[in-house]
Amino acid sequence: MAEMQDAQNAKFQKLRLQRFYLAQLNYLITYIVISVAWFAGQYQGSIWLMLSHIGLGLGTQSVFFALMRSNWNLRLNDPSMTNAQIAVAILLITYLLAFAGPLRGSLIMIYANIMVFGIFQLSRRDFLIHSGLALVCFGALITIEQHYQADTQRFTLNLVEWFILACFLAGLSMTGSYIRELRERLQQRHNTLQAHQETLRGMMGQLQNLATTDPLTGLANRRHFIQEAQRRMTLMRPTQQIGIALIDLDHFKRINDLYGHAAGDQVLQGFATLANSTLRDGDLIARFGGEEFVLLLGNANENALFQCVERLRLRFAGQVFDALPEGVHCTFSAGLALLQPEDDFEACLNDADQALYLAKNSGRNRSEIHQPSYA
Ligand code: GH3
Ligand code: MG
Ligand code: MG
Repeated sequence: MAEMQDAQNAKFQKLRLQRFYLAQLNYLITYIVISVAWFAGQYQGSIWLMLSHIGLGLGTQSVFFALMRSNWNLRLNDPSMTNAQIAVAILLITYLLAFAGPLRGSLIMIYANIMVFGIFQLSRRDFLIHSGLALVCFGALITIEQHYQADTQRFTLNLVEWFILACFLAGLSMTGSYIRELRERLQQRHNTLQAHQETLRGMMGQLQNLATTDPLTGLANRRHFIQEAQRRMTLMRPTQQIGIALIDLDHFKRINDLYGHAAGDQVLQGFATLANSTLRDGDLIARFGGEEFVLLLGNANENALFQCVERLRLRFAGQVFDALPEGVHCTFSAGLALLQPEDDFEACLNDADQALYLAKNSGRNRSEIHQPSYA
């Protein structure tokens, strides 16, 4: 869980850095523009003022970069620091515009370009606050300028620029927050869809379980056993043999009649638990129906199959059940048969059934292995 969280964090950090690099491209363009403007004699300040702008840009951006690279930003409510990055950019661009001279009219659109970076993240309120900040900064700039170098014609032009900027930013704020809402709605729909998918997957799993498992004992059911056995037959090597054992509880009707159906159920469940703990991983045990079970041993020979079933039989015969009176035990009889790759599965089950019949007739609580001579 923690690892998944870490991977998620790393992915988001990478995205944040990518967005940061993109913003740096914009900064680079402004650095180039003011350098060119300075060389062309259009920058209205000294080289030191021009360099101080570039220095401020590089300085502030290095701080953001260091915060992200050290993962310090993860402590913040908004680790992408969008609001701070946009506010800093607005202040820096205002500083640039103060000395941009005739370039100001075209550079003013950088305010809008800055806002575009918040388009997926900022709420309408944030958008309006940043737009307000840009308008206040630019408004203050033209007012101060007018105060120190009164020029009515230029001031009027500046006011028109301010108005155009205000209209543009208002439009951008509306569109930007609309895009964000759309994105959130899409994300919500995606989440709901994923939740439905999870539920569906869970239900499919349950259905699959219901279709393959016996509800009382939790063992595989007859259908699943036959499918699985046939699948394993197709994977058999030519010299390999599969062991099959049909197991039938002895005088089980009596258990039900004497101690009740619930006691009978407990015995069936007890058998399942015991079989599960006695068998090895690759072995398969299933409830074949009623008080009859079937066991499959992969890669078996007569001796291994017999030993395995005997071990289970002896353990079961010694098993104590709460629902049965003290000293009352339950036993089973088993019919065993070996299956070769070229054999017919149904015929093998039949052989095991014949051996089981013999075990029952020979006094029960015993295992008999099918001999071809029975046929
Ligand atoms: P045998 O030794 O010859 O196998 O005798 P048996 O009494 O075990 O055989 P029989 O086929 O006459 O009886 C099987 C009994 O198993 C009858 C049936 O009520 C009981 N049974 C089948 N399924 C369940 C079950 O899910 N729960 C319980 N409690 N009993 C079941
Ligand atoms: Mg039976
Ligand atoms: Mg029986």
